[in-house]
Amino acid sequence: MTTVQHLHDLPDTTKTATKPAGMPPFARAFHLLCPGPVNVADSVADALAYAEFGHREPEFEALLRATEDALLQIAGLDPSRHAAVLLTGSGTAANEAVFASHRPLSGTTLVLTNGEFGERLATLARYHHARVETLSAPWGAPLDLGALSARLARGDVTFVAMVHHETSTGMLLPVEEVGALCRAHGIALFVDAVSSFSADPLDIASWGVTWASTSAGKALAAYPGVSVVFGSHESFTSLARFEASSHYLNLARHYEAARTCSQTPHTPAVPLVSALWAAARLVLEEGVEERMNALRRRQRILEQAAWTLGIRTLLPPTAPRSRVLTTFLLPKGVSFDWLRDALRARGFVVYGGKGPLAGRVFQVSTINVSEEVLQAFVLALRELFRSGTHIDPVPLRAAGARGA
Ligand SMILES: *Cc1c(COP(=O)(O)O)cnc(C)c1O
Repeated sequence: MTTVQHLHDLPDTTKTATKPAGMPPFARAFHLLCPGPVNVADSVADALAYAEFGHREPEFEALLRATEDALLQIAGLDPSRHAAVLLTGSGTAANEAVFASHRPLSGTTLVLTNGEFGERLATLARYHHARVETLSAPWGAPLDLGALSARLARGDVTFVAMVHHETSTGMLLPVEEVGALCRAHGIALFVDAVSSFSADPLDIASWGVTWASTSAGKALAAYPGVSVVFGSHESFTSLARFEASSHYLNLARHYEAARTCSQTPHTPAVPLVSALWAAARLVLEEGVEERMNALRRRQRILEQAAWTLGIRTLLPPTAPRSRVLTTFLLPKGVSFDWLRDALRARGFVVYGGKGPLAGRVFQVSTINVSEEVLQAFVLALRELFRSGTHIDPVPLRAAGARGA
């Protein structure tokens, strides 16, 4: 009989990512060219399968600390000034946690919207904040910073919320400029960086960002199901002034549990945290800047290939665009359903448009896409849109009208 001296003497329970018998062949059959979910690296899959330990064990506490540290490092934040709080739940959970935990005692919450995800922020804000207003532009059109400045000057706005990368159009919103305005007026700023974190530059510490959220299943390239809220220690401690409107999504409780005992208030999705840790490590190994540059390179390759086929982008080249994905106008006479099915048949998954863009665009993301897969995708596009002569792109009125 063998006696187990130490944890490491136990048999290794590492699972492999082989398709379990009887499972339909969806697991790894597709190249996911969406902004999330994405194809994860093998080490991320291994980290998920390896994480068979209880969340009230020291292994989890070490894992949580290591994950928080890696996320702060990716964000370029100093752990002595900022914290990263992990939540079990998709990106919306992190967004809702911010609104439910930081509830201004007075004044107006202003949500900036020019797409689906800005509108979702406004919806969430209305559940938890007393007075909510939006400052809107059409989908894909730039926000009017002059109007924002005038609105903030009226003095009653105490909280501003905005998306960093508006995933429904691919537009990057001017967080630095909005942050400067908010700071000048002493207004809290919440930035939904769910689809941009680790892919597009975001300087939380120096841009006047009070809260920033992200999720594991987007540019960080782990699995969906855990999300993150960044804030200064001061911001987290000052949450005690507000009455939270959610128990489960109360950031103050999460912060307290993490600070005092490296724990979470409720059962966390341990395997998903483990996978996020592995994905964050990969980002740091690659280098945050190098990763951002590589995303831009892949985006250029894709856009150039599309241009030669007569496929135009929704946003003009002068618009601030996220590196994460490109929104293409569907050529005249091409339905999204046909394109999606044709690409799926070739092993690729792309997304269509939402709201006013439904049926008018397709979106391609290259988060964890190798050059080889990208080239294969370009070939598939060529095959589908051969000569390009039948293509007559229809400019969208709702989008990019101003300054386009
Ligand atoms: C994906 C996304 C979210 C969160 O969506 P979930 O479905 O909860 O993951 C929020 N904001 C933006 C900008 C996103 O791209």
